[in-house]
Formats: sequence, structure tokens, C-alpha cells
Amino acid sequence: MIISTTIRTLAKEAEAALAPIFQSIDAIAERNTEHVLDCFAACRVSESLFMPSTGYGYGDVGRDTIDRLAAMIYRAEGGFFRPQLLSGTHALTVGLFGILRPGDVLLSLTGDPYDTLREVIGLDGEPGAGSLRDFGVHFASVPLCQCGGTKAIDFSAVRQAMEQAGTSLKMVYLQRSKGYEQRPTLTVSEIRKAAYFVKRTAAELHLEEPVFFCDNCYGEFTEETEPCCLPKDAREEASADLIVGSLIKNPGGGMADVGGYILGTAKYAALCGNRLTAPGVGLDVGASLGQNRNLLKGMFYAPHTTAQAMKAAHFAAYLFEAVGCQVSPRWDERRSDIIQTVACGSGERLCAFCEGIQSASPIDAHVKPEPWQMPGYADPVIMAAGAFTGGSSIELSADGPMRPPYTAFLQGGLTYESAKLAIQCAADRLLHA
Ligand SMILES: *Cc1c(COP(=O)(O)O)cnc(C)c1O
Repeated sequence: MIISTTIRTLAKEAEAALAPIFQSIDAIAERNTEHVLDCFAACRVSESLFMPSTGYGYGDVGRDTIDRLAAMIYRAEGGFFRPQLLSGTHALTVGLFGILRPGDVLLSLTGDPYDTLREVIGLDGEPGAGSLRDFGVHFASVPLCQCGGTKAIDFSAVRQAMEQAGTSLKMVYLQRSKGYEQRPTLTVSEIRKAAYFVKRTAAELHLEEPVFFCDNCYGEFTEETEPCCLPKDAREEASADLIVGSLIKNPGGGMADVGGYILGTAKYAALCGNRLTAPGVGLDVGASLGQNRNLLKGMFYAPHTTAQAMKAAHFAAYLFEAVGCQVSPRWDERRSDIIQTVACGSGERLCAFCEGIQSASPIDAHVKPEPWQMPGYADPVIMAAGAFTGGSSIELSADGPMRPPYTAFLQGGLTYESAKLAIQCAADRLLHA
């Protein structure tokens, strides 16, 4: 690997500064691991659950135990954690279509949702493609407001939007992670405060309580709790009714080959189960096709793997700021997801960044990433991905649209050591670009 002495010296300096932060990340990982192992024991996870099922998958005890185990780990009433959810977008789609009915209003508290959901909702794409809009579901959104130097949920505008939607308001939607935006990620406590606000406001307006739905992608295990869990001493907080995510991000621990989850209240999770398969069939079918062992292994690894990715993100923030890039969050800021943005400043530098990450990947290190016109995106996008699992972003990956300020979105790292090396390679290329 080509890493100059300048960068290696900066890396040492970074690790010295980051030592107390790394300690607290390790402490969170240890407490989350203890909780996960307690849940494994309570669910009596045993080798016999690895048995693959085929066909309908009736009586697949492994599959059913995994669903129960996931609910316990995330402190939810029910839900599912399955390879039949093909991606985060698919899981979110099943969750939305599982709950929303013609005439309902879906209200987003965090502005427009993640890019891939635009066509699901019907904000983009051809009419008739099968979006929520085609089925008569209306979408409204409240953009985040600029308050006190940062972006936050605009509660007074949310109240207005709830009033406007009136009795048609069925679901309130919140995206935890920044996704491809420049904004802070919401903490679990902020999410629960938002849920409390929505539930209280609905009561004040004499509306039926809307379903509080949280896109939880990239947030899992970065804290000691999740949005659908409500601590006993919680004040002015409420739990999310549904949380949704992808198993090729944090919760799969880098071990799941495919999958997603929907967890939350028993009633809403069951409705989503009907949408995953068919009403009347629900969650009683679904062959595990030999995935149970990987999923369980991933659940075991997830707190640790997420901690590796968190350390990598802090390290990247320090190093890239040291070589003159604008980064967010900064190295000493608290985080509630694994995404690190690095403004590279020019197209050439963004390419150099991605080339550096790619060059230190376990898979396809010999390949040079190039910007391409991805379907659904306005500008060409460059991506670095050298992952064991296709598209996995709990594995170290980086991508960015070719437009000012040429921001790279960096996330993941199965091991801190490998991520640290790749980040140094990228920083070195930036230094010499
Ligand atoms: C990744 C992600 C999604 C979509 O997940 P895919 O697995 O890429 O389909 C949705 N929302 C957020 C915030 C994400 O980070």
C-alpha cells in the first residue's frame, strides 16, 4: 500500500486523540453484545436452528426463532428479520404498503426521504408503475428547519401539517440517518421525542394516533438502544411503532448475505407480514434456504462490526480534516449512524479519494472506479466498493455525486484495521492529487 510517512504520522496523532472516544465505542459494543447474548440464551438458540428449509418453509423453527430473537434484541413486540426482504428499499416498501390504504396521508418529518423511495412514493417515476400515489396514498413532507446552526425537525410546521392532513393522517415517517443529505443524523432520544410530540399533538387535535414509522438504516447498534424501545424512566418520549432496515448494513454484522427487517408493535408488524407474503398466510411461510446460520452469526457480530465502522468513521473525520477537507460529523462529534461525509473540493479529488479506498479493498483492489450515469441520479456518481457481499455498505464503501462540493459519503469497515488502511490510502491520494 502506498501510504506516506506524513499520513502515517497523522494517523498516529489521530489515534492518540481518538483514544477516549474509541473506549466509549468499545463500551457500547460490549453492553450491546451482552444484551444480544442474553437474548440468544433466552431464545435457546441452538445448532439445530441452522437446518435449511425449502418450499413453503412451514415449521421452520430457525426462521421463527430469528424473528423472535430480533424482536427481543431491538426490544420490539414483534416483526421479522428475513432474507425475503431483498434490500432496505424493499423492506421500507413492504412496511409502507403494509400499513397505508387509499386516501391515507403519509407525512414525513425529515423532508423528502431517501432517494430510492421517491419512486415508491410516486414523487418520481411513471404514473401507473405501482407507487403509493397510484394507490391513492397522499404524501406530505415537512423539511428540516435551520435552527441554532444545525438542522432539526420543525415541530411547529409538523403540527400545522398534521392539522392540514386531519383525519386522513395515517402515518408519520422519520428517517434517522442523513442518507445522501447534508444534515445531522437523529439520535434515538431525538426520535423518541419526535414520536412523543406526534402522539401528543394527534391527541390534542382529536386525531387517531398515526403510525410512527422510522427508517432506521445505518443507525443500528451505534447507541445502546433503538427507537422502538422505551426506557421505563423516559420523559416526554414515545417509542416508534415500526423500525425498518437492511441486513447488508449494520444489523447483518457483515455476515448476512441478503435481507431486511421490520420490527415494532405486534399489530403493525403482522400487517407488514401480510404484505410480505399474502393475507391469511402472513409470517408462517418463507423457506430460509440455508440462510439461518448466517443471519444468526450476523446478529451476534452486529454490535462489534458496527463499532468497527464507527471507529473507522471517527478516524476518517480526523484524517481528512487534517489534509484540508471539510468533514461531517467532525472527529469529536457524537454520532448515531456510521456515515462520514468528506467534501473533496473537485471532481479529480473525489475520484482520487475513491481510488484510494478501492485500492485497499479485499475484493477488486486492482480495479479503478470511474464516475458513471446511474439510473435515477441527476449527476454522474463514483463509487468505491470492494465487498464480499454485493452492495454491502457495512463493508467499507464510498460514493459521491460528481457535483460541487464533490462530497464523498464513506461508511462501513468490517474490521477497523482494514478500514484504517484504506482511509490512509485515500488521504494519501488526496494529499498528492
Ligand atoms: C441504505 C438506505 C436505504 C435503502 O436501502 P437499500 O438497501 O440501499 O435499498 C434507505 N434509507 C436509508 C437512510 C439508507 O441509508
